[in-house]
Amino acid sequence: MRRITFLVYAVLWLMLLSLNLYQQVMDTKQYAQNIATRQAEMFFDHIILVRKWNASHGGVYVPVDAGTQPNPYLKVPNRDLETKEGVKLTLVNPAYMTRQLAEMSQSQTGINFHITSTEPLRPENKPDHWEAQALAAFQKGLKSVSGSGEIDGKPFYRYMAPLLVEAECLKCHDQDGYKLGDVRGGVSVNIPAATLESFVNERVDHLVITHTIVALIGLIVLLLSYLAQARLSKRLDKAQSRLQLAYLDSLTLLPNRRYYDAFVKREWKRALRHQYPLSMIMIDIDFFKSYNDNLGHLEGDQCLRQVARTLKRFFRRPGDLIARYGGEEFCVVAACDAEQIWVLAEILRKAVENMRMPHPDSKISEFVTISLGVATIIPGHDQAFDGLLYRADQALYDAKASGRNRVGRYRE
Ligand code: GH3
Ligand code: MG
Ligand code: MG
Repeated sequence: MRRITFLVYAVLWLMLLSLNLYQQVMDTKQYAQNIATRQAEMFFDHIILVRKWNASHGGVYVPVDAGTQPNPYLKVPNRDLETKEGVKLTLVNPAYMTRQLAEMSQSQTGINFHITSTEPLRPENKPDHWEAQALAAFQKGLKSVSGSGEIDGKPFYRYMAPLLVEAECLKCHDQDGYKLGDVRGGVSVNIPAATLESFVNERVDHLVITHTIVALIGLIVLLLSYLAQARLSKRLDKAQSRLQLAYLDSLTLLPNRRYYDAFVKREWKRALRHQYPLSMIMIDIDFFKSYNDNLGHLEGDQCLRQVARTLKRFFRRPGDLIARYGGEEFCVVAACDAEQIWVLAEILRKAVENMRMPHPDSKISEFVTISLGVATIIPGHDQAFDGLLYRADQALYDAKASGRNRVGRYRE
């Protein structure tokens, strides 16, 4: 893994976790809203139940005290009674009772609820802006409305459902023109946003902590595997360069004789199996001793490098190979026939000649030249690959003997 790959993985990992965190925070918020709605619905249902109970009795008499004064808006006979003992009682109808419950709830649970009406008798029952919109929606058939809003500048989660006229209501409100099933108002249940926020914040804190831990563990694992891999590839590189050194000639950077021998043996076996011809070229620089003597060993090395570079250009096929055989000799093996190898040898000879590298002490040319010996064999079971080497060597000897700067062929 390269450093950039590691960084990409790390960034991807962090992005994935952030995305997951974001999704979970959104889910939590939605979940909190759902719970709030459910809670508000239950609150509303309870209010309705208690109101029904009250209405079913046509209101309930309670003792008059500082908190419960006769309801000036309730205009029914017998609203106020007095027992034989002198205890004053007043009739509490559903609306009055709801108001009292709302006050209790507000002070004890912080949850606020408000009974409102389309035509309120009490001015306090006038709907606020949000409630008025909800009431309008109920007139159009909506069963409930929820969302966030503000009451006296404080944020609340708000829920509202309609109050429908039921049979019990008509006992008192018949003369007000109420009809069964009418929407006469609604009750809004308002949960302080702080309650929801503290629930959401607690859960978000928890999510952030767990995601941070998971992110760190992931990064540590990633880092450890990056470091382990970096160490491994360093070792591999070392082993590879050691291996290259073992098989590469350091001067010319051509494969060395050890590699060449192993390669030829393998190719020999393959040619033996499939019975196709295997060819070889032995190459030797002409009068190289005197080149060295004249220009110095360093120039000699440079000449070797340049000849090697020129020869190397012609070897791209996987079955062909050129190697430094030793000294100023190179050796080629190729899976081709006698004619093809001769053509290749001629190309190599010309290529070196065309380098026009001055040779001040050659007896046959102004420039550096090479002599080449080619040989071809279709391997047989009774032969060894040394036979091919021997023939190529003989052919080279021939080329040298017959004037140099030429290709010699092996002759039986
Ligand atoms: P011929 O045309 O018959 O091949 O003559 P020659 O002088 O090339 O042959 P000989 O075998 O007499 O000399 C080969 C010379 O190659 C001897 C040696 O100084 C030189 N030589 C061998 N290896 C290296 C090398 O790595 N660097 C340099 N600079 N010279 C080398
Ligand atoms: Mg030689
Ligand atoms: Mg030579």
